[in-house]
Amino acid sequence: MILPWHQNAFAKLTQMLEQSHLPQALLITGTEKIGKFELAERFIQTLLCKNDSCGDCRHCRQLAKDNPREVLDQNVLVRRSHYPNMIFCRTELRESGKESKEIRVDQIRAFCDILNKTADELQIGVIFYADQMNVSAANSLLKTLEEPRENTLIILLAHNASALPATILSRCQSVHIRPTFDSESVEWLSNHIDREKRSDFDSAQLLESAHGIPFRAVEKLQGDYFLQFQGWQNHLLEMAMNPAKTIETEMFEGHELETLVCLQQLITEGIRLKLLKTQGALLELNKVVNKASSDNLFRLLDDISRAISLAQSPVNMALLLDNVLIVWSHITHLKQYPAITSPQEAL
Ligand SMILES: [Zn+2]
Repeated sequence: MILPWHQNAFAKLTQMLEQSHLPQALLITGTEKIGKFELAERFIQTLLCKNDSCGDCRHCRQLAKDNPREVLDQNVLVRRSHYPNMIFCRTELRESGKESKEIRVDQIRAFCDILNKTADELQIGVIFYADQMNVSAANSLLKTLEEPRENTLIILLAHNASALPATILSRCQSVHIRPTFDSESVEWLSNHIDREKRSDFDSAQLLESAHGIPFRAVEKLQGDYFLQFQGWQNHLLEMAMNPAKTIETEMFEGHELETLVCLQQLITEGIRLKLLKTQGALLELNKVVNKASSDNLFRLLDDISRAISLAQSPVNMALLLDNVLIVWSHITHLKQYPAITSPQEAL
């Protein structure tokens, strides 16, 4: 099955195939958790299976056994697929036993060496995530990309294409997966929410709060984080709806940073709705953004981003949050945007 929010990207890929324009290097980009790997897997199956991704042939079965995202307890340079002509390259453990943050040059060298061997069948190499390659690893890959080989496909997955050197980008055909808010994705999400939780959540609203990333929405529902998050969200909206009411902030105690992030998401979403002149699934948010000026929303968003960046330093987060909340609770009728000050003049 092709995930609903992958359909455009997948159509672009199959179009390349139909027109026999399969590139030597393919770059799949999209924000974290959007499903770049799932799209690559699905496309590889299309390439290898002669029978419409049947799930039953030799290649389909080999692919089904792969789990290259699993964290191994030993360090390997590349991982092999059960399909003998496919390899994976990703960050592995360091000697300290912690997962490395970058893909090293020795890994890319091994990766390219294997792909440079002749094979009768299509050879595939997948790098995830290409934006984690360090400079020498990227240079090493570039050499291979500069000498295209027949019957070889290199698939690069990247969260952020702009982190890749232009020399690599220019040698890749790229496909981007966009966040999704459409009804098919909302329906997919409803089907992936536990039955017990289903009645408690509005899937469209959930998808909005997860910035249009369905896998992230599913993840959020695991544990009680989302319930807590919804509680904060509701309380924040209530504040802005009832400016005259005294602000009760006990529920935010100990969660100042998360509350700021929650408000940041609300305002970001609010600005998006306002700019698109549309309504979202959160009724109160629609009302608030309707009354608030874009200018004030943007300024508050700036202040919140600064407050969040200060969380690493020893500031009084409770006071910082209070100052932000005072402005937020008056956002619908602010005549002049006030300067938000913090105890250490931090803002
Ligand atoms: Zn098959």
